[in-house]
This record gives sequence, C-alpha cells and structure tokens, in this order.
Amino acid sequence: MEKLNIMAIGAHPDDCDFRFGGTAIKFLAAGHRVMFLSMTNGCSGHQTSPGQAMAARRYNETLAVSKLTGVEYKMTDISDGSLTTDLLYRDVLMREIRAFKPDMIFTHRPNDYHPDHRATGTLVMDCSYLVIVPHVVPDSLPLHKTPYIFHVYDRFKYPTPFVPDVVVELDSVIDKKTAMLDCHASQVYEWLPFAGGYSAEVPPEHDKAGRLSWLKTYLEKREPCITGRYKEILIERYGHEKSLHVQRCEAFQLCEYGAQGDIKQIRQMFPL
Ligand SMILES: [Zn+2]
Repeated sequence: MEKLNIMAIGAHPDDCDFRFGGTAIKFLAAGHRVMFLSMTNGCSGHQTSPGQAMAARRYNETLAVSKLTGVEYKMTDISDGSLTTDLLYRDVLMREIRAFKPDMIFTHRPNDYHPDHRATGTLVMDCSYLVIVPHVVPDSLPLHKTPYIFHVYDRFKYPTPFVPDVVVELDSVIDKKTAMLDCHASQVYEWLPFAGGYSAEVPPEHDKAGRLSWLKTYLEKREPCITGRYKEILIERYGHEKSLHVQRCEAFQLCEYGAQGDIKQIRQMFPL
C-alpha cells in the first residue's frame, strides 16, 4: 500500500490525541507517517500555573507522545485561547499543511464549544482549496491536490450533529491510546478534572497503575456509543461476527471542502 501522510490538526496539545489517537496508532503501525499539529501552545490550560511555563510543560508532553508512539508532534507559539480565523493564522496553517503534504487531514468541526476549536476547524476549511493555489502564500510551494479532510467526533448538535462516515474500532489499541493521553498529565489529571469538578476521582500521582486505569475508563466514556449508523459502518468494514464484540470506536465525518470520492473506497484507506 502507498505510504500516506496523515495530518491531525487540533487547537491544543491533546486534541488530536483525544479524538484521533487510536486511529493514528493504527496508521503508524501500518507504516504511514502521522503528524499532530497543535494550533496553540496550550499556555492557558491550567488552574494554577499558566503562561510560558505551562506552554513549556505542554510542549514536553507532546515530546513524550512522539517518543512513545512515533507521531511527529508540532505546536505553534500562538497563545491558547487567542486563536481566530485571522489571515495571519491561516497563513501559518497553510505553510504547515504545504510543508507536510498530507493525503488526509483530521480536525475539529467548526461548531464546537471552544473558540480555539471553532477557529481551527474554520482555518482548515479556509485552507482546503487555497493549498493548491500558487499565488496564495507564495513563499510556500502549493500542493498538487486537495487532501481528504475529516472532522473528528464531537457531541454537539447545533447547528448540525456529527454524522459518522468512517468508524474505526478502538478496543485493540485502547491501552496504547491511554498511554498516549497519560503523557498529557497537565490536562488529563489536573486541568480537565479541575474544570469538570471531578478532581477528587483522580488517583494520586504516585499511584501510576491507578491513574492509568482511571484514565482508560474516562476515555471509554468519551467515545461515541456504537448504535445505528456507527454499527452499520462497523459491520460493513469488520463483518457481523467481529462487529458484535467491538465496544469502542473512533469516528470521522468527511468534509465536503476536501477531496471527495466513493465513501466505501475511502473507508478502505483506513487501517482496520
Ligand atoms: Zn482543545
């Protein structure tokens, strides 16, 4: 199979891991190249120690993910909480996409609770056609073709709910995905529990095994429920017998602004 360049673009250092981590692990195992790009430096994602020290900590967390998995992790120096769809940021993203030459891009939908997520999703769509236009950001070489663009799963319903086009089983890599998210300790054990009001549930730092077990359960709760269309797509890909046993999955929606094609053939590009 042709070696693909797979690029996930999230607003913060951990977004790609949460919604695409398991599928990324599978793409890597199949010999493809995977990059995670964080559009901000994550400097605001903590209750007690924000700023440059936090950005540095989060950068180190991305390095740990790279070391563990082989994902190429990049982070811009744009401040967390400040991303907009400004031309300046579009140009930053355009250069990153053109440098990596992705066959597929994974990103947020533009309807999301977090303004950085919304801006990231919109910026990717703003680049989707322009990446092939030579006179836009002429200091970077244009791509020859528009990549496939996929939106990652979210639970938001307004103005339209997420509709899965591709479903990848997660059970076989859930331990590796948990280890990937464990690298983002500042988020999964500190900031997110604080912001969500469940810090008391998190096992103490010295209890490494307890933390991993808690994190795995936490991740499982955040994945989509396998019903309806999710189930139909799983059966098409994995067959009835195997689909019956799948408990967790990651799901993606094809964006109309990227490359298009027969969805059954596009599903074949994904690792099982
Ligand atoms: Zn985020």
